[in-house]
Amino acid sequence: MLDSGQDLIDVRSPADGRVVGRVPNERPEAVSDAVAALRRAQPAWESLGPKGRAVWLRKLRDWLLDNDIRLGDVLQSETCKPRAEAALEVPFVCDVINYYAKNAPAFLADEKVRASGPMSLPKRLSTVYRPYPVVGVITPWNFPLALPGLDVVPALMAGAAVALKPSEVTPLSAVELARGWAEIGAPPVLRVLTGAGQTGAAVVDAVDYVQFTGSTRTGRAVARAAADRLVPCGLELGGKDPAIVLADADLDQAAAGLAWGGLFNAGQVCFSVERVYVEAPVYDEFVARLTKVVESLRQGADDRGYRVDVGALANQAQRDIVERHVTEAVRAGARVLTGGKPTGAGTFFEPTVLVDVDHTMSCVREETFGPTIPVIKVADEDEAVRLANDTEYGLSATVWTRDLARGERIGRRLDVGAVNINDALFNLFALTLPHGGWKSSGIGTRLGGARGIRKYARVQAVTAPRGPQLQGKLLWYPYRAGRGRIVSRALRAIVARDLLRRFRR
Ligand code: NDP
Repeated sequence: MLDSGQDLIDVRSPADGRVVGRVPNERPEAVSDAVAALRRAQPAWESLGPKGRAVWLRKLRDWLLDNDIRLGDVLQSETCKPRAEAALEVPFVCDVINYYAKNAPAFLADEKVRASGPMSLPKRLSTVYRPYPVVGVITPWNFPLALPGLDVVPALMAGAAVALKPSEVTPLSAVELARGWAEIGAPPVLRVLTGAGQTGAAVVDAVDYVQFTGSTRTGRAVARAAADRLVPCGLELGGKDPAIVLADADLDQAAAGLAWGGLFNAGQVCFSVERVYVEAPVYDEFVARLTKVVESLRQGADDRGYRVDVGALANQAQRDIVERHVTEAVRAGARVLTGGKPTGAGTFFEPTVLVDVDHTMSCVREETFGPTIPVIKVADEDEAVRLANDTEYGLSATVWTRDLARGERIGRRLDVGAVNINDALFNLFALTLPHGGWKSSGIGTRLGGARGIRKYARVQAVTAPRGPQLQGKLLWYPYRAGRGRIVSRALRAIVARDLLRRFRR
């Protein structure tokens, strides 16, 4: 735990604990100065318009691509992800840039809206999107480049300035993002503020919109602080995502897909598969195939080698949570079919398959955020749906079946923000779909086409006269009996829907 009086934060490799970087622990006063500077720079950024801003975002994309090998190294140094996973983050952020740079002019264009009825006919009506001046983006440690990119890019494209507060555990990639922004010579509308929780809290205290990704516990504190200031917030929080394997599923595909969906990034994905419900007729066969896939995975640190499948947990505290969930489950009667313990090096924990688990156990009820896959046998679809919904969380779910229509029907019975059929994690790669959690998994969504950028804008309603200014003559002071009666009769005639009421005095 960081001491709030400390000036610098040591960033350590999860592989061996060695210090791989050092960043400032920004104090609340420094945060408020930085946000004031962003506020001063924002109007010029907004006035560039979406096309002008897209020029800078595209330059950032090119910088990211030109530096992708080094960025992969930085990512691995602070997370110990396999290279195959670290190498996804730069292209992912570039895809987000391409999408919003291309579509922002249309998404942010003024909308001419039609009159709702004769009363507003004399006016030209438009809805205008104006950015929140400064957006605070607060991110966790699991995707140190992709998660900031996911929210920073649409916020900048919307015309806001951005204060980014990355996790103290993995701040180096965010610092690189800021370096890229400076090296391309872009306007000073992106600041990375490194530090611990108090730095994040200071960001919430200073900005005009908070986009927070992290645990449900911290999310609640952020929501309270934002409510006190009456600033809006988007919350992307924890999950305990269920998978349902139906008896007609392709079991090889389900085993391979669920091993990946549960263990990608060592299970440190908010919408990782954290519990699997399997229909009784195929339970034994599925468990055997899943165990075989998980046993075959290679774990370790591979630098640029693309040689390992599963990396380490971000830190010791996270590894302890995973170990506790497994130990408590075993003590209560669960069996470990493969894995089940720390490897002994760094913060690695073996990829683990657990069976004979139930809903009284922490490994099924609490977010594990680690490389464990608990599997539960169910009688049928109804029991699977009931158990899948038996959680405070509601981020995403997967359904595995050869009958796609049935899969979609089941998806509509699940209380979650996204359903992937015969796949895991995929919805986040579809930028035109909204990504957000239900229940304690969050408030609001990110991405999802136009809504993903409009969320960073305040809507402004504008009216202007179409022709001669009649309204003023009829409605403004001074009130007079004759005119008042004419207006009220005219209004009655407009809103009534039958002749009797239209003309009754
Ligand atoms: P935390 O909630 O601990 O931290 C998230 C961020 O908030 C960090 O930058 C943290 O700083 C900062 N922070 C801590 N206290 C405060 C505060 N009082 N005010 C403002 N900011 C604060 O989450 P983790 O880093 O542990 O990340 C794991 C969690 O993130 C999991 O629950 C996971 O499910 C969730 N997550 C959700 C996603 C989604 O899209 N729904 C995506 C990815 C992860 P510091 O690290 O320095 O303490």
